[in-house]
Amino acid sequence: CGIVGYVGARSALDVVMAGLKRLEYRGYDSAGVAVLADGGLATAKRAGKLVNLEKELAEHPLPAGATGIGHTRWATHGGPTDANAHPHLDNAGRVAVVHNGIIENFAALRAELAERGHDLASETDTEVVAHLLAEEFSASADLAEAMRLVCRRLEGAFTLVAVHADEPDVVVGARRNSPLVVGVGEGETFLASDVAAFIAHTREAIELGQDQVVELRRDGVTVTGFDGSPAEVRAYHVDWDASA
Ligand code: GLU
Repeated sequence: CGIVGYVGARSALDVVMAGLKRLEYRGYDSAGVAVLADGGLATAKRAGKLVNLEKELAEHPLPAGATGIGHTRWATHGGPTDANAHPHLDNAGRVAVVHNGIIENFAALRAELAERGHDLASETDTEVVAHLLAEEFSASADLAEAMRLVCRRLEGAFTLVAVHADEPDVVVGARRNSPLVVGVGEGETFLASDVAAFIAHTREAIELGQDQVVELRRDGVTVTGFDGSPAEVRAYHVDWDASA
């Protein structure tokens, strides 16, 4: 339902949680975050309101990191439980993904992954993406390339945002028929399903086009098509009143 991503120098957790709060008005049934820190990936997720996730984070704090993603979920496949909340991880716990929309061919992909020995831990259509990204990443060591390859295999409408512990300064996003906007700041970049999530930090935005993948780094962004072709980037200035 709501997606936020951040790469910069601040606490990614603080930026992502504040962004998720700005997206609360859209409605949701669960929430979760992932932060890259100390060479690994740390996650927390909870069914229910953001306050449940905040309580979990207070009881079990995550290590501090400057790259992170977050999600508020509106369940379509699998009930609103802790296990079905996003982010979803691969079996090694190195890649985390959040998703808006529906992956129509997830059942076939689940069966294929199970055959190759993957353990699926949730009932969502989303989780297959984490496992597929892990497989592709092990070949290319490039999360954006892994995302392009995986997206070409997905059917449906989706926004995906992912991080990998082996690329700790990168957030990758992809979109097909679902909105995803990049925010470009000074030494920090943002990704969200709605500019409201990052408007407090920057008003320089890039609307991702249909079937595009974006790689975010602290100092800039690279946009390509799902086929790897360089994409034209349409930057604009958000000039509506942030307090509205
Ligand atoms: N289809 C996914 C799920 O049910 C994502 C739902 C959403 O857009 O929040 O987990």
